[in-house]
Amino acid sequence: MANKHFNPFEMAQRQFDHVADLLNLDQATRDLLRWPQREYQFSIPVRMDDGKVKIFRGFRVQHNDARGPSKGGIRFHPLETIDTVRALATWMTWKCAVVDIPLGGGKGGVVCDPHHLSAREQEQICRGWVRQLARNVGPLSDVPAPDVMTNPQHMVWMLDEFEAIHGGKYPGFITGKPVGMGGSLGRTEATGYGVVYTIREALKELGLPLGKTSAAVQGFGNVAQYAVRLYRELGGTVVCVSSWDQADQTAYTFRKPAGVNPDELVGISDHFGGIDKARARNLGYEVLSGDAWIEQDVDVLIPAALENQVRADNVGKIAKKVRLLAEGANGPTTPEADQGLKERGVFVIPDFLANAGGVTCSYFEQVQCNMNYYWEKDEVLGKLDTKMTSAFRAVSELARRQGMFMRDAAYVVAISRVAKACHERGWV
Ligand code: NAD
Repeated sequence: MANKHFNPFEMAQRQFDHVADLLNLDQATRDLLRWPQREYQFSIPVRMDDGKVKIFRGFRVQHNDARGPSKGGIRFHPLETIDTVRALATWMTWKCAVVDIPLGGGKGGVVCDPHHLSAREQEQICRGWVRQLARNVGPLSDVPAPDVMTNPQHMVWMLDEFEAIHGGKYPGFITGKPVGMGGSLGRTEATGYGVVYTIREALKELGLPLGKTSAAVQGFGNVAQYAVRLYRELGGTVVCVSSWDQADQTAYTFRKPAGVNPDELVGISDHFGGIDKARARNLGYEVLSGDAWIEQDVDVLIPAALENQVRADNVGKIAKKVRLLAEGANGPTTPEADQGLKERGVFVIPDFLANAGGVTCSYFEQVQCNMNYYWEKDEVLGKLDTKMTSAFRAVSELARRQGMFMRDAAYVVAISRVAKACHERGWV
C-alpha cells in the first residue's frame, strides 16, 4: 500500500522511464504509457447491519488496453489508495504483455477492511462496485479478478450484479470464480507452478539439473506452497519455507535440510499460511529467525511472501552457492539489492515474468467461459507450461543477446509489445 515514504506509482513510473530511455521511445508514447488511460473513482453507499449508511471509496484504473481488454484484480484494503491501484494496473499491462496474452492492464480497489465487515456488508460493497462501473467494465473491455482480501465468493456476487444489470449470462466478465461457476481448474496451482516452470528453464541455461538442486523459499501461502510441490515433484529439494506468526508479530523460517514436506506443513498451518511453531518442532523442523531463508546454502532462492524482502542490508547474506533468484512475490527486491545481485552474477527471474502464471490461467478461464466449454486440469497446466516457457525464453534470449539484466530484458519485451500495439492502432 502507498504511504508517505513509498509511492508505488512513482516507482512504476521510474521503472518505465528507465526502459523508455533504453528503447529510445518517442515523447508521445512515453506520455501515453506513463499514465493510465482511464481512471474511475466513486462512492459506494452501503446500509450496514446496524441500519446506518456508510460510504466506501472505490477505484478502477485501466492503464492500457491497446493489446486487449484490461485485466486485473480488485483489492479490499483499509489503506488502498489511487496511487497503489495505478501502480498495480501499470504492472498488469507489462505482465500480460511479457507472457504475450491479448490483454491490457487494470486494477481496482475499495477502501475497506473485510475483517470488520459481515458477509452481507461485503456483498453490498461488491454489488455497489459493479453498479458504479457496469458500463465501463465487461468481457470485451475490462475483466476484474480477485486480489488481496477478495475471493471467489466476491467474484460471484459481482458477476451476479453485472448479469442482473445487463440481462444475460456473461461468465467471461470476471475471473477467479469457483470451479463449477465458470472458474478454471488449475487456477489454484497456476502461480506457484508457473514460478517453477521458469526456474526449470533458467536452470537448464545455467547447466544445473533441477533434480540435483536445492532451494529456500520465503512464505508458505498459495504461491509458495504450489512452487514447493512442483519443485519437489521435479526432483529438487526445498530446505526451508517461512511464514508470518500473527501472535508473535514476526516471521519464522522452518528448516529441514533433507527437504520440507508441504503436506505435513499444510496440516499445521492456519488459512493465512502461518505455520504452528511447536507442532513444526515436533515434526523435526528447526525453527529459525524470519530472515534465515535468505542465508541458506542453496542453489535457488524463491521469495514468495511479500514486497521489499531482498534489500541492500541483507543482499550480502546470500550464500556464494546461490545461482538463481526467482521472484514469486510482487516487488520482493529493491533496486539497491538488484545492483548487488547483478554484481554477484545471480540470475534473476523478475516478478512480472516469474509470477505471471496466475494471470495466464485467468486468461484461460476467460477463454473457457467465452466458449462455454471447460478444459481438464492437465490441459490447463500443459497450456500454462507452454506459455510460461516461451515467455521465459523470449526474455532470456534477449538478455543473452544484448548482455542485459533479466529484469531490464523483461521490461523491454513487455513495453515494446505495448508500444507497438499503440503505434499500430494509430494512437501515437
Ligand atoms: P498468501 O497470503 O497466500 O501467502 C503469503 C505467505 O507469506 C503466508 O505464508 C504468510 O505467512 C507469509 N508471510 C507474510 N509475511 C511474511 C514475512 N514477513 N516473512 C515471511 N513470510 C511472510 O499470498 P500469495 O497469494 O501466496 O501471494 C504471495 C505473493 O505473491 C504476493 O506478493 C502476491 O502479490 C504475489 N502474487 C500472487 C499471485 C497469486 O495468484 N496468488 C499471483 C501473482 C503474484
